[in-house]
Amino acid sequence: MENKFKQIGNWMAEQEIGFTFLTSTDNIFYFSGFYSDPHERLLALILFPQDEPILICPAMEKNDAKNAGWKYEIIGYSDIENPWDAIQKKVAAKGQKITKAAVEKDHMNVSRYEALRSSFPSLKLFTSAEEKINRLRMIKTEKELSIIREACKWADYAIEVGCSEIAEGKTEMQILAAVEYELKKKGIAKMSFSTMVLTGKNGASPHGNPGDTPIQKGDFVLFDLGVVVDGYCSDITRTVAYGEVNEKQKEIYDTVLNAQLAAISASKPGAACSSIDLAARNTIRDAGYGEYFPHRLGHGLGLSVHEFPSLTETNSLKLQEGMVFTIEPGIYVPDIAGVRIEDDVYVAKDGVEILTNFPKDLHIIK
Ligand code: MN
Ligand code: MN
Repeated sequence: MENKFKQIGNWMAEQEIGFTFLTSTDNIFYFSGFYSDPHERLLALILFPQDEPILICPAMEKNDAKNAGWKYEIIGYSDIENPWDAIQKKVAAKGQKITKAAVEKDHMNVSRYEALRSSFPSLKLFTSAEEKINRLRMIKTEKELSIIREACKWADYAIEVGCSEIAEGKTEMQILAAVEYELKKKGIAKMSFSTMVLTGKNGASPHGNPGDTPIQKGDFVLFDLGVVVDGYCSDITRTVAYGEVNEKQKEIYDTVLNAQLAAISASKPGAACSSIDLAARNTIRDAGYGEYFPHRLGHGLGLSVHEFPSLTETNSLKLQEGMVFTIEPGIYVPDIAGVRIEDDVYVAKDGVEILTNFPKDLHIIK
């Protein structure tokens, strides 16, 4: 069996966990290579310490799972069957009384938890599967890295397209549509999240919603977007100027850029997440904008656009070779300007490799 099955199997054996029951599409894809959005239907993967895993999916998707490379057992069920009966029988046939299971505590819903409890009355203890899986997913293989590199190249291209679309009076949504249309024409099926194009006052909201605001001379335009390639996400933010911006806007831009570069320089194996966050945060605080940087520095990136770990000023976790995360400080001054600069980085032996490469010097579009 593959290395990741072995690793989680060993963990289950050590922790005396009878099985790990997964229902999140990303974790199922990570272990099975099969990606499916089941909507309200049950898609699940059961992993055992020793035995081979079992995939549970709608019967109509069994072939898709096999075609995706799944070579172990599949329980398929129709829309008029209850999958829990089959799950109960298959697991019971393994002949072990299971008292402890690992589930995705941050994901599993209450009705499935209840179904699991009534299918396995001997289950007394539920432990967090994420605790182990987040750490497995945190270290990327060469193959995963090469896919993420590709996703990052597309993200750079998307920003390039966005910049070329900027013109007086065009709205945020018109530019957003042009970016996604161009990517879709080139075969990109999915963005990592809802693309953000924000201008004027809207840029001062870290999670703003694009709308019908037109672009005007002297405004920043903030792009935050990502592209999914073979299941893996990229995530980039660039803030560009349309026409000349004022001194205050430039000062804010330079401060964010300096903070971002400081965090990149501080990133290397062994450095704590907190020290990376603080490298950026202190740069922003020293420039007097501390209160306008209201979020963490960044987050792990991979199959999910936000994954473990969280780069905050209190996280003592140390960087390790193989991690991929974002570095995205921002300053948001209401009614003046919002600037964020975000890159995706890979932790190599001596520092980080920057995977998103669209230029970061203040780009003024005439
Ligand atoms: Mn991000
Ligand atoms: Mn982003």
